[in-house]
Amino acid sequence: MLKKMLYIFIFTLLGAALIFSVVMMIKFFNEAAEEEKDNMKNPMLNPVNETPSPSLTEAATPSPSPSPSPTPVPEKNYEEEFYMTEITDEIFERIKGKSYPEGATISLDDLRWCHVVHYGFDGEIHEGEIIVNKAIADDTLEIFKELFDIKYEIEKIRLIDEYGADDEKSMEDNNSSSFCYRTIAETTVLSNHALGLAIDINTLYNPYVYTRKDGTLFLQPENATDYVDREKENPHFIKNGDPCYNIFIAHGFTWGGDWNTKKDYQHFEKSID
Ligand SMILES: [Zn+2]
Repeated sequence: MLKKMLYIFIFTLLGAALIFSVVMMIKFFNEAAEEEKDNMKNPMLNPVNETPSPSLTEAATPSPSPSPSPTPVPEKNYEEEFYMTEITDEIFERIKGKSYPEGATISLDDLRWCHVVHYGFDGEIHEGEIIVNKAIADDTLEIFKELFDIKYEIEKIRLIDEYGADDEKSMEDNNSSSFCYRTIAETTVLSNHALGLAIDINTLYNPYVYTRKDGTLFLQPENATDYVDREKENPHFIKNGDPCYNIFIAHGFTWGGDWNTKKDYQHFEKSID
């Protein structure tokens, strides 16, 4: 009798354990299914769902490649951002009495306003404008397009008139520019910038520097002390043989950093007949 009751007890216990484990298993699978549903709802948790299904990609582009890749987003065509105009009345209003002072001997007809885009020091694309001699206007657009294509970083390309045609202020702000009717610093000789035949790039990082006859240091801009030593590593330094240098040289320009005594590291100019 006692033995029989023990058997009943053990079987009841085993039965209960069996029912309990079945219930737990059902619960577990239900929870797993719920979790999967949640992931489907929230693409952030499951980024794979964002890409088109392989069958769609294959249907759109029949490709022999066995591994389907995400459809590339078509890149904006920046070619049309590089263009020039003559000096319109509106542009003349901006430069009159500044980079184009009274008595300037260069004709407005000889100048061109160029619109460009460029990569900034922030890695983003920015608009720029630069006035140059019409003789180098095609070169200018091509040069800035080539610099853009290699993502060469230029911090800003603004008309020097935004600095009141003050070369020092423009350089202190690392602005890149060309036309400004002025003489070469500390001389009475007209600069090639007065003809729009010279282009200065990243002017703070690439200063104009030399030792005067009296032994003192000439430095433009004045806040460029950290960039006088050209042996230092700096991604914004222009050096002989680097990509920026090579692009300008390929367009027939010479570089101020190659001059013997005075070093104008920002400066590229082109002689025309
Ligand atoms: Zn210059």
